[in-house]
Amino acid sequence: MVPSIVMIVNFFKRGKHGCALVASLVLLLSSTHVFSASRHTKPADVIKKTTARIAIVIDDIGYQSSDQLLLNIDAPLSYAVLPHTPLGYRYALQATKNNRDVLIHLPMQADHNNHLLGSGALTSKMNKVEYQQTLLSAMEDIPFAIGINNHMGSLLTRMEQPMRWTMEVLQQHNMFFLDSKTTRHSKVEQLAKQFGVTSLNRNIFLDHSREKRHMEHQFQRLINIAQNYGSAIGIGHPYKETYELLQVKLPQLQKLGIEVVPISVLLTPNAGLVNNRKAPKDNIEQRARSESE
Ligand SMILES: [Zn+2]
Repeated sequence: MVPSIVMIVNFFKRGKHGCALVASLVLLLSSTHVFSASRHTKPADVIKKTTARIAIVIDDIGYQSSDQLLLNIDAPLSYAVLPHTPLGYRYALQATKNNRDVLIHLPMQADHNNHLLGSGALTSKMNKVEYQQTLLSAMEDIPFAIGINNHMGSLLTRMEQPMRWTMEVLQQHNMFFLDSKTTRHSKVEQLAKQFGVTSLNRNIFLDHSREKRHMEHQFQRLINIAQNYGSAIGIGHPYKETYELLQVKLPQLQKLGIEVVPISVLLTPNAGLVNNRKAPKDNIEQRARSESE
């Protein structure tokens, strides 16, 4: 029931938009359905159906009308939406109405290529008030979000003070942090624990290269992690090649006993899993990735 509680709290704390009520109720019903369905199912069926889970988050939503292609995929993908972008609010609302989880894709200062950060970026030069106001402004812009993940951020996520300020706000709003892991030295998990904030780690970037063989290889790695450890989190981007990969690969997962789930389902990683060992650090792609992520 954690996702439901998260959504209710988010609504009451930040529900400035009337449509947020509808969105929250839709999500509440959706997530309740996930859990209530299992109550009427035999234990053996539950085990069979939840052998492994994959969550796929599509980053960088908000700038291009072609993002719609990924939003239309008939599977419970999750969407990370850039704040203060021309199409961000509209696509976040659309995804929410379609029972999809929405995250804020929060621009955070990187070591390189900071001209790609976009609007509403968090930087190391900000004081606490500026920093937290920028974060709150992103949350007001995308009021349907149940968590955040970092856009770029190889510099900021390894800095203790900005991560403390981030966790303070997330704790107050009962939101989680999906660490995109753009640096192996990220302090997200450590600081999240201190503040009692739930954090998750990205396992695989699906489309760092859009070359077909590379993407298929990455998808297979995602499957392997899910099968070995019970769950896996992949991040993709709104590229045509990513859409084509998912259209082919997603229908094949059911035969492998793998379920695609909204990211919120993995906030309770032990629920219903037969093999719920936590993936060791070396199974998380540690290489710092291109700052375009
Ligand atoms: Zn990004």
